[in-house]
Formats: sequence, C-alpha cells, structure tokens
Amino acid sequence: MPQKRDYYEVLGVSRDASDEEIKKAFRRLAKQYHPDANPNDPAAAEKFKEIGEAYQVLSDPEKRQLYDRYGHNPPQGFGDFTGFTGFADILDELFGFGGMRTAARRGPQAGAHIKHSLTITLEEAVFGVEKDLQVTRLETCSECRGTGAAPGTSPVRCPQCGGTGEVRRAVQSLFGSFINVTTCPRCEGEGEIVTTPCPTCKGQKRVHVTRTLRVSVPAGIDDGMQIRLAGEGEHGLRGGPPGNLYVVVNIKKHPLFQRDGNDLLLELPINIAQAALGDQIQIPTLDGEVSFTLPPGTQHGQTFRIKDAGVPFLRRNGRGDLVITTRIVVPKKLTEQQKALLRELARSLGKEPIASKGILDKMKEAFK
Ligand SMILES: [Zn+2]
Ligand SMILES: [Zn+2]
Repeated sequence: MPQKRDYYEVLGVSRDASDEEIKKAFRRLAKQYHPDANPNDPAAAEKFKEIGEAYQVLSDPEKRQLYDRYGHNPPQGFGDFTGFTGFADILDELFGFGGMRTAARRGPQAGAHIKHSLTITLEEAVFGVEKDLQVTRLETCSECRGTGAAPGTSPVRCPQCGGTGEVRRAVQSLFGSFINVTTCPRCEGEGEIVTTPCPTCKGQKRVHVTRTLRVSVPAGIDDGMQIRLAGEGEHGLRGGPPGNLYVVVNIKKHPLFQRDGNDLLLELPINIAQAALGDQIQIPTLDGEVSFTLPPGTQHGQTFRIKDAGVPFLRRNGRGDLVITTRIVVPKKLTEQQKALLRELARSLGKEPIASKGILDKMKEAFK
C-alpha cells in the first residue's frame, strides 16, 4: 500500500477551505476522473476512489476535525477513515445522477399542483366572497382514457426492455463490475409503448382543459394567504392522484382603509374648531356610516377605536376594530369673516401656546 496522500492535497484545497470550496473541488475532480469518462484507465479509477475518500472525510465536520488533528491514523476508538462507503450517495447528492442508478419511473405518478392568483377587494376580504376561476390544467384524455393509444388499439409491450421499464448494463469500475440500471429510453420506464397514438392527446395521455372553478374565499382572509382546493390540480399519470390547486389571494389597496391584522385603520381629517370644541361626525366603515362623537380638545394624531368594525377573525368569532387617527387640517384659505374670528381667538389665547408651556420650557432648557 503506497503512502496515503493528504486529503487536502488530493482535492487541491487549502486546510482552511470552506465546505463549499471542498464540494466544488470534489465535483470538478470527480467529473474529470469518473470511470464512465475514463473507461480504459485504471489510474483514473484509483484517483477517483482517492478523491471520493478525501471528500467523504473532509465534507463531514466531525471526521474533518479528527483528520485535522490526527491525520490518517486516529487513535483507537475514533473510527478510521478507510472503508469508504456511500459513494453512490455522494454522487447522487452532487450530480443528481438521474441516468446512472435511478430505478425506472414506472407506476403511478401524481399530478402537479397548480398555483393561481386571485385579486379581491378589501370588502370581499372582510365579508368573504365566492369567485369563479378559469384554470387550465392537464386532465386525463377522455378519448383514450389515459392510455395514449388510439381507440380500438392498446399499448404493446416495449421491445427494448421487454416490459420491465429498465435497461441493465454491466459496467466495469473500481468496485469490480456492477450493474448499471437505467430507465428504458424507448418506453421511458413504462414497459409499454403506443404504436397508434390517440389522435386527441397525441399519445400524451393527458390534454389541457380549461375549467371554471368556484372558490369560496372566507371572511377575514389576509393578503398573500392561500386557499387549497384539494384534487383540483393536474391529473396524475397511470392512476396517480391529482395535484391540488392553490389560490393565492391578493387584496387590492382601499382608498380609505388600511389593514393592520384584524384592525382597519382610517385617517380622519378634522378642522381646528372640531378639534377644540368636539363634534358629532359620520364615520365611514365597511358596514356603512356610523355616528361618532369627537370629544372636545382632540389632539392631532389621537386615536379612537370603534369596536367590532374591523376584519373578522378567520378561525374564531368576532372582529377587529376600526382605528381612527385624527389629522387636524389647518385651513389655507380663509374668508374675511373667518380671519376676523380667528384674530379674535388669537387675542383671547395670547402669545403662549396653551397646552405646550411645558414643551417650551424644555426647549429653553435644551438650548442653554
Ligand atoms: Zn422499454
Ligand atoms: Zn388520448
């Protein structure tokens, strides 16, 4: 047995190489020295094995640590690095060697799931709605009932694989000879082929069909949530189950209300007189207008809650609130009479802002 080479050297990476670098190096070298690529070169096979062993150790944090500490000869009880196994797994993981070892893809195959977006208004989200969706999906061809063969004919056994769906080939490699099983290219693993294809699906067994499906959107649904319609996805193959339809709900922006979880937010513009004196105001809600008493001395940005005028909870009874935030709008255009009235008010209020005396004092403090 020749002297073992350093694993880092074998992969051509530095001792502080990242996992990603190690993986990359292995991937490159394994491709280069793979026995399939070098059928008549025993040196390549030896090299391939060496690369695999190095990778198996360095890609495993525990083994790598042990190797960094003890090299090729860890003390008793720590296991050892030889007895290289799991090569096929490593290769599968790295290359997804579909054609190399995979078993035939025969038997039932489930239909794919379908994602479909649905845009609704805030009102529809709050109260729930029924919507019709146009969905185009693959369905089992009704003409041939999914066999792919023209009516009156049936599929025949595949002559290339004799109906097994697999092709076996003996391959010489570093492990000695092994059997390389691949999916039969002629029948694609199905074991039978169609000689006279169904004219409707061209032998594909499924056809695209557009269906109108009714979706029930529950009250309280939020933007980005999905509604699952079980079994309404694409049909499967060879008796496989259908996929699901996932309806992704988008909610349009509302001109008045913003949503915050189950609360609705409303900005309420009021004038200075309403803020100072209070007022009885009609407030819009999604359920219609309600009467609201604005208290005297309302400040800018003050919030009030109207209970149960928000969004219903999805999985329990009850609703969120409507949260009103006041915005005091100072008039930009005034009539002569309004100016006179305000001047009078100004004289009465004097120079000091009534409520902000404390704040002014603090500001003076800060600039000292
Ligand atoms: Zn075949
Ligand atoms: Zn058909």
